Order: sequence, then structure tokens, then C-alpha cells
Amino acid sequence: MRLILLGPPGAGKGTQSSRLVKKYSIPQLSTGDMLRAAVAAGTPIGLKAKAVMDAGGLVSDEIVLGIIADRIDEPDAAKGFILDGFPRTVKQAEGLDRLLADKGLSLDAVVELKVNEAELLGRIEKRVKETLAAGGSVRADDNPEAFKTRLHAYREMTAPVSAYYAERGELKTVDGMARIESVSAAIDDAIAAAQNV
Ligand code: AMP
Repeated sequence: MRLILLGPPGAGKGTQSSRLVKKYSIPQLSTGDMLRAAVAAGTPIGLKAKAVMDAGGLVSDEIVLGIIADRIDEPDAAKGFILDGFPRTVKQAEGLDRLLADKGLSLDAVVELKVNEAELLGRIEKRVKETLAAGGSVRADDNPEAFKTRLHAYREMTAPVSAYYAERGELKTVDGMARIESVSAAIDDAIAAAQNV
């Protein structure tokens, strides 16, 4: 199962990815997580990416495609993977197509979580409160200023990625504002429908 989850920050991609990881026993490949790990480890990529990430901008396509190319070659990704937070630009989507084509692979489903943008900031604020209450540390880019930049980047750069897959008839759209269980069920239906095409 090779799956892409699309949707703006705060749409619930992380929550749904964790569920799908268990359901299909495949890894979640989150470029955001991988980049945060690179920042924490102080690698050359992390050093380059940190300021852009903290401000809520997008890291270069070249860096992100390099990370994904290496990651999908790992043995645990052989059975499939869930891409979370990637591709975020049409260039990345095209790069992914090339990476998969070179290996004779294709995508099984591209699912977009549609949300009401006005409610997203509230969701992020809730995520910050819950994380702090649980004694966790909050992401540097989970603040209103960076969040606005992330949302802007999504509208400008990532919304066209949905169009890219929609034009090929590969995009399934799910209402991400529904209750979590309903979103889960709708995603499962969308995946089943994509596989029966
Ligand atoms: P996320 O955890 O997916 O919200 O990503 C956190 C941050 O990492 C984003 O705001 C970007 O700065 C960077 N990032 C993650 N994935 C990508 C990507 N596919 N392309 C460019 N930048 C990314």
C-alpha cells in the first residue's frame, strides 16, 4: 500500500497516519518528522532547514526529494508507506513520480483531507495546550505567526498538488472536519475505492 495523505497543517494527517500505520503495518514517512530529526541531530541538512522551518516556510524541493529517495529505499518501506507532509509542491510530486517509476512502482491512493481553514488555528492552539498539559514540548512552528505562513505556503504551493493528482483522476477527497471516527471511515472507503478503479 503506497498512500499519500494531503491536507493543510492541522488537518489531522498525523492522527490518521498513525492509525493507518497500524492497519497496514507500513511506515509513516513524514518529511516534517525527518527534518525535525535532522535539526535536532545538527546534520548539514538540519542546519540548512532550521530557520525556514521555524518561520513556517518550505524547505527546498531538492533537500526534501533527497530525503524521500533515501527513505523509500529502506527495507521497512518495501511493503509500502504512507507519505505525510510530502509532496508539498508540484515539483516534489513530479519527482516522486520519477522515483517510483524508476523502481516500477506506483501509488495506490492519494487522499486529501478537506478542512475549514478558519478552524485550523483553533486546532493548532488546542494541540499546543494538550501537548503542554501532557508535559511534552511544543513545535517551534506551532505559533500563530508561523502557522499563518504555513497556511499561506499550503495555499500557494501545496493546493496545486491536489490539482495535479485530481487531473489524473487519482485524488480522493474526504471531509476532515467530521468526527475522527467518521474521517477514519471515509479514508478507508476512499482507499478501497481507489484500489477498485
Ligand atoms: P510538518 O511536520 O509536515 O508540518 O512540517 C514541518 C515543516 O517542515 C514545514 O513547515 C516545512 O518547513 C518543512 N517541511 C516538511 N515537509 C516538507 C516538504 N515536503 N517540503 C518542504 N518543506 C517541508
